[in-house]
Amino acid sequence: MYNKAYELINETKENNCRISDIVLRNECKLMECSEEDVRSKIRKVLQVMKDAAQSGIDKETRSVSGLIGGNAVKADQYRKMNRTVCGDVVNRAIARALSTSEVNASMGRIAAMPTAGASGIVPAAVITAAETIDADEEAIIDALLTASGVGQLIKKNATISGAEGGCQAECGAGAAMAAAAIVELYGGTPEMALDAGAIALKSILGLVCDPVAGLVEVPCSKRNATGVVNAMACADMALAGIKSMIPFDEVVDAMYKIGKAMPAALRETSMGGLATTPTGETLRCRLIGKQ
Ligand code: SF4
Repeated sequence: MYNKAYELINETKENNCRISDIVLRNECKLMECSEEDVRSKIRKVLQVMKDAAQSGIDKETRSVSGLIGGNAVKADQYRKMNRTVCGDVVNRAIARALSTSEVNASMGRIAAMPTAGASGIVPAAVITAAETIDADEEAIIDALLTASGVGQLIKKNATISGAEGGCQAECGAGAAMAAAAIVELYGGTPEMALDAGAIALKSILGLVCDPVAGLVEVPCSKRNATGVVNAMACADMALAGIKSMIPFDEVVDAMYKIGKAMPAALRETSMGGLATTPTGETLRCRLIGKQ
């Protein structure tokens, strides 16, 4: 059983296998069930992910507070104009990430991987990357296993909670998981997958958790969209052979220390950051007045 990324990589080398193979084996041991049982549970989760990533695109979905909604539809309509800056693939992923976060804020059904607040990143990344290379469902399940292995490492050695470590812990974990998953899906090595995860997490270090009015909507929804772009860019870098100068385990340790050093006002209390900007305060007052 691995506790650190270097141990996970050693296990893949000893067994000449991928990260997803090790994670699947461990899940079977932990849950005392067969590989097919685990895969069938993930298949159900994948369906929830697909539905949440699409329903906000098919139909304008508004949050209960009314703070967010309709951006997934806008992103997808813009993509279809075929004149985007980042191209079709990235804009597909952006629309899907926005969709999931809008479904989440409307109290719809999402898969909280790693958390509800950051639930848009992994599905958008994995579904879009798989679609691009025409990967089948079993390959997507493998990618999700890899993502969960990376999430486990972050949870074991640091935190995936915005209240504990800021948004770097939540959207950062989501981006790292997604980046590693894409790399495996594209045939990269376990080292490349963890390089991608490390680069994604490094890119978001220090990001505070400052939701307006205490709702997981602003800035959360758009952070899911930028989180998936972060993941895709880092996956491409790793697949190109670019390494992280700081190893994954050390990046996770640094993220945890930064989270601990953050004042409470910047860890999901809505007492600082964007939540206390003039507009953030106005929105909060408007919502409280509404309630
Ligand atoms: S700002 Fe806070 S609540 Fe929103 S996604 Fe980030 S960690 Fe979650």
